[in-house]
Amino acid sequence: MEKKPFERPFIKKLQAGVPSKFGMKSQAEPISHIDKVPVTELLAEYGSPLYVISEKAIRDKFTMARHAFTTRYPRVQFAWSYKTNYLDAVCRIFHQEGSWAEVVSGFEYDKALQNGVKGSQIIFNGPDKTDEDLKKAIENDSLIHIDHFDEMYSIIALSEKSGKRPKVAIRVNMDTGVYPMWDRFGFNYENGDAWDAINRIMINEKLDLVGLHSHIGTYMLSTSAYKIAAGKLADLAFGIERKYGVHIKYIDVGGGFASNNTLKGAYYQGSDTVPAMDEYADAITSAILNSAINPRNLPTLILESGRSLIDDAGYLLGTVIANKRLSNGNRATIVDVGINLLFTSFWYEHEVYPAAPVSEHMEETTIYGPLCMNIDVIREAIAFPLLKKGDQFVIKRIGAYNMTQWMQFITLRPNVVLIDPKGKVHVIRKQENMELIRQQEVVPEHLK
Ligand SMILES: *Cc1c(COP(=O)(O)O)cnc(C)c1O
Repeated sequence: MEKKPFERPFIKKLQAGVPSKFGMKSQAEPISHIDKVPVTELLAEYGSPLYVISEKAIRDKFTMARHAFTTRYPRVQFAWSYKTNYLDAVCRIFHQEGSWAEVVSGFEYDKALQNGVKGSQIIFNGPDKTDEDLKKAIENDSLIHIDHFDEMYSIIALSEKSGKRPKVAIRVNMDTGVYPMWDRFGFNYENGDAWDAINRIMINEKLDLVGLHSHIGTYMLSTSAYKIAAGKLADLAFGIERKYGVHIKYIDVGGGFASNNTLKGAYYQGSDTVPAMDEYADAITSAILNSAINPRNLPTLILESGRSLIDDAGYLLGTVIANKRLSNGNRATIVDVGINLLFTSFWYEHEVYPAAPVSEHMEETTIYGPLCMNIDVIREAIAFPLLKKGDQFVIKRIGAYNMTQWMQFITLRPNVVLIDPKGKVHVIRKQENMELIRQQEVVPEHLK
């Protein structure tokens, strides 16, 4: 029989987190495999830390989301939010599933083109579009979502030169009952700016108003906020129909559906409180179907969901560097995953699991990253078993935003691998090396 490692006995009051009416949040079983591939093998082959993305999880989630909307509404189109995760392999999975691209910069726009997305299937959002970006988007018949009047005037001026009639939508911000309100993007509904923008576009024949857009926030737990947003966009669409006799081709309600992660300080786990995709779909589609819009001219419903579609598919694997006791006696575990790789640890209480069965004794533990910086904390307080130096762990639900907001800071960025539906592992972004960093730097002659 194998000898179990010794652990000193202790008695300790658990204080990690606040008990809800169901008691303490409990740590589940270890995660030893991802899509049947052993975590130990992944780390041995590709190094630690390591990002792992499950292609099956992406496709399953997408299929579920598509089903939720297409069973309730006749014309539905998803557009993948590039900033949420713009690794080409990830984007191409979404495009294979039929998603268009939703981009917010010239860089993302070019990435979408390079991923084979047709210009007419790129939605161009965001407050910062240069004249160069706009020219390209007009040339390619992309859908330009206007953020402010200055942008509208630029597009009008550019269209005069190009001889094309740009396809535009306006971004609308509004009171949906969720505060603080995101009113910095687009034109406000309540104060009449949205109508002002619509009227200016409609009387100017150079622009083709094809859609109405909103993106009311992110990690939105309220389905009624979407109902209000979709209802207000539908009212605008109906108003345009009545005033100008023009049918708006699409209503785009943006992204922002919550993923199953738990926000810091939340009383319940995210997986218990986050609405199901069916509930979001119900709220949005019923608002449009129950509006005054003539059912024969129902606009296409566009969704730009990011985090809710990709968060679950991403894992971050790592290794314990050391354990220590802090001055107050609390246990600290230092790991090789820092906030430079897990930006979302600022907002989420990420779930961390051992990669192999360990002690059943939990102790309040702070999990620190490897950076020489006080704020490098992955979990402030988690009921966690003792993982020794060299033990491996898995952080769940990290697919959204971490692989775009990561920082090359103190260390280099590690490999990202994709596990395909057959269980084959592919490197989809190589770990960075010194050469890559040096290529970008120039030492002036006098310092050589
Ligand atoms: C970021 C963003 C999205 C995606 O948001 P999620 O919260 O990740 O779903 C969609 N649309 C726009 C305009 C965005 O800026």
